[in-house]
Amino acid sequence: MNKSQTLGELRASGWHHRSVKQELMENMVAKMTAGETLFPRILGYDETVIPEIENAILSGHDIMILGERGQAKSRLIRTLVLLLDEWMPAVAGCEILDNPFAPVCHDCRIRAVELGDRLPIIWIPREDRFGEKLATPDVSVSDLIGDVDPIKVAEGRYLSDEGVIHFGLLPRTNRGIFAINELPDLSEKVQVSLFNILEEGDVQVKGFKVRLPLDMLIVATANPEDYTHRGRIITPLKDRYASQVRTHYPTKRETEMAIVEQEALVRVTPKRQIFVPEYIKEIIIGLTFEARQCPEINQSSGVSVRMSISNFESVVASAQKRAIRLGEPEVVPRISDLPAVFASSRGKIEIEYAGEDQTEIEVVDRLLRRAIKGVFDCHFQVEDLEPVIRVFNAGAVVEVSADSPASQYREFFQKIPAMHERLKNLGLTDSPAQLASAAEFILEGLHLNQKLNKELRKDKTVYKTSPPAAPKPKPVLRRERGEGFH
Ligand SMILES: [Zn+2]
Repeated sequence: MNKSQTLGELRASGWHHRSVKQELMENMVAKMTAGETLFPRILGYDETVIPEIENAILSGHDIMILGERGQAKSRLIRTLVLLLDEWMPAVAGCEILDNPFAPVCHDCRIRAVELGDRLPIIWIPREDRFGEKLATPDVSVSDLIGDVDPIKVAEGRYLSDEGVIHFGLLPRTNRGIFAINELPDLSEKVQVSLFNILEEGDVQVKGFKVRLPLDMLIVATANPEDYTHRGRIITPLKDRYASQVRTHYPTKRETEMAIVEQEALVRVTPKRQIFVPEYIKEIIIGLTFEARQCPEINQSSGVSVRMSISNFESVVASAQKRAIRLGEPEVVPRISDLPAVFASSRGKIEIEYAGEDQTEIEVVDRLLRRAIKGVFDCHFQVEDLEPVIRVFNAGAVVEVSADSPASQYREFFQKIPAMHERLKNLGLTDSPAQLASAAEFILEGLHLNQKLNKELRKDKTVYKTSPPAAPKPKPVLRRERGEGFH
């Protein structure tokens, strides 16, 4: 592999300089020709976002990505780094990674003249050719572009000598990809400097004009509402983004589920097996989809895919906690683990009329019940569950909670054999923890279909039919001691 150490060796090796955009384009074409995946681990964008990014790269455009929060914008941008050369030569010691054949910074130009072919070269891995900045109103020209270095001035260098510049983040990402997240939050003054440096190759720092032709791909992101808001982005900068790409949330639940399965971090405790039933995943995804339709939630900021991911992690954690406390070998989330989503949904949604009649939790709770009912109705016909309802009409009462041992639920299925048949539809085995999960799902589903009453007592949930069903209900399922069936 070419790892020339000096300018002379680099020249002799036949390496030739390409602009960043040329490099990205040629490497992308090579990958396409070889049939390689260009955007690994990005799901649901094959027909919408990715073709537009490919077109932008082929056209050599800077890219503006518009989308609500949690639509993989940052990941898309970081994935572009994979289209850069694995290694790039630069002048050793240069703060802005100058091209050895044509350095632009003051120091390198002097050294190039002094050293000629002995100018030392270093090799930069592509991961180091990426910079990003979250735009906020207090990001200054000196953060992003540079400042006059008072130490260098004190050393006796003159202001007309551009060696006194301390470079900011943007020049330090020269010959790479630079991402500005939430561009509309950048102050107008910084936007003007940014435009000048990108378009004219020069910039004013403390009234001092610096010539600095940078070579980079600039990708900016913005929330669509902020972007269209008048005056948030100066027009010439807006015009520079020749390609605008609109991201979106997964259109299909399967895609959102695949993302959750790819991203969720489930910490397996030793000697325990985790099994998450499909319906639990469907409920978690269903909650997010409900939230994205909900008029009380601010849809212009959006409901991130991260809500599905963190809710999944919290629900599994709740089930794990039970298994640890009760010494159970199998971890299977149940309906009574779902309240764990309240903590992980908080902060991921913005209630439109905060402080008025409802809290975040009340909204999430209502959406959660709707999600459970939706998933239940996909798996069951209420009529098929008549045998269960009959047992309750005869006076059965069932208590469940996130702390109840799995073994306690087995009785439920023993007394109602018709129930057992239904397990196959749910893709479950009859391990105690899976039975417990199925039992709660069926009970809650019947409750949401108004076939069972539900009472919340401290940390327990009690399912039964309405009291006046019979004068003296004869208990069918009875347990003498302990919790569970009464
Ligand atoms: Zn330099």
